[in-house]
Amino acid sequence: MKLKRVMLHAGFDMQYTLVGLAVVQPVSYDTYMIIKLRTVLVRKRSKYQNIEIVELPEYGRALVLDGLVQSTEIDEHIYHESLVHPAMITHPEPRDVLIIGGGEGATLREALKHNTVQEAVMVDIDEDVVNLSKEYLKNHHQGAFNDKRAKVIIEDGKKFIEKTDKKFDIIILDLTDPYASEPAQDLYTEQFYQKVYEKLRDDGIMVTQAGSSFYYEQTYEKVLNSIKKVFPIIKEYNVWIPSFGYACNFIIGSKKYNPEKLTAEEVEQRLSSRGVKTKFYSGRTHIALMNLPVYRKSLGAYTTS
Ligand code: SAM
Repeated sequence: MKLKRVMLHAGFDMQYTLVGLAVVQPVSYDTYMIIKLRTVLVRKRSKYQNIEIVELPEYGRALVLDGLVQSTEIDEHIYHESLVHPAMITHPEPRDVLIIGGGEGATLREALKHNTVQEAVMVDIDEDVVNLSKEYLKNHHQGAFNDKRAKVIIEDGKKFIEKTDKKFDIIILDLTDPYASEPAQDLYTEQFYQKVYEKLRDDGIMVTQAGSSFYYEQTYEKVLNSIKKVFPIIKEYNVWIPSFGYACNFIIGSKKYNPEKLTAEEVEQRLSSRGVKTKFYSGRTHIALMNLPVYRKSLGAYTTS
């Protein structure tokens, strides 16, 4: 059952995601978060999803897709730095980066901070999300779309990966949640991860956001198991994102390098030599991220071979 249907069951229609002066956001099937709303800046139905850009007193500007907060001005750095840097830093010299999704441009912004990057290709299915983000979410992308190393393509990520001849060092999947989004469903499957594997160089690394393992354990395990079937080195980690109301999970699939082997000093050294300035991620944060809470059975990075 998808969140959209749960909202209908609960008496909400997508039209009523913004109720009066609040955003009512489903955190799980049975838990909702009510966030005070200042203004609605944009409301549009694109070919793929309902897009809302809103202003929230506590979190600033936020992108909301199909009733779910994707990122907010105030805490987006926690999400985007956690998504991008552990994989990028684990690779000794990431030159070619592919981002699938990431319409706000903040994932692109973080990837481009690494001065090793020669080209970052961003493929998002929804032109409306990208164009509205360019206009309304300037603090998110901070001009990343204008960087001469950035190449933005409007296309389904699945189609792109099937037809591209290019090989990448890093592939970052910044998609809508595996349990909530129609257009992203096929990009959380073993078949898709196999294609991603083929488009990575021999020492390439993939990372995906994977929603909440706490509230959607079954879906999460399915995604994790699909990645395990394809990649020899897996590392899962999670980070609390205030505006999501849960700790967001991320999964790295790597061909050669193990993110858990880096020391805090090595992380700091790589950040500094690449000129990467962060607000959340550091050498010590990397080590903390690599240590999961006890209730996650699969502690640590592990190899599948
Ligand atoms: N932080 C996010 C979250 O919590 O779910 C993800 C943010 S980002 C805005 C998600 C992006 O994935 C959207 O811009 C959406 O258009 C894009 N997307 C969804 N399905 C896609 C697909 N099949 N190919 C490429 N982009 C896709």
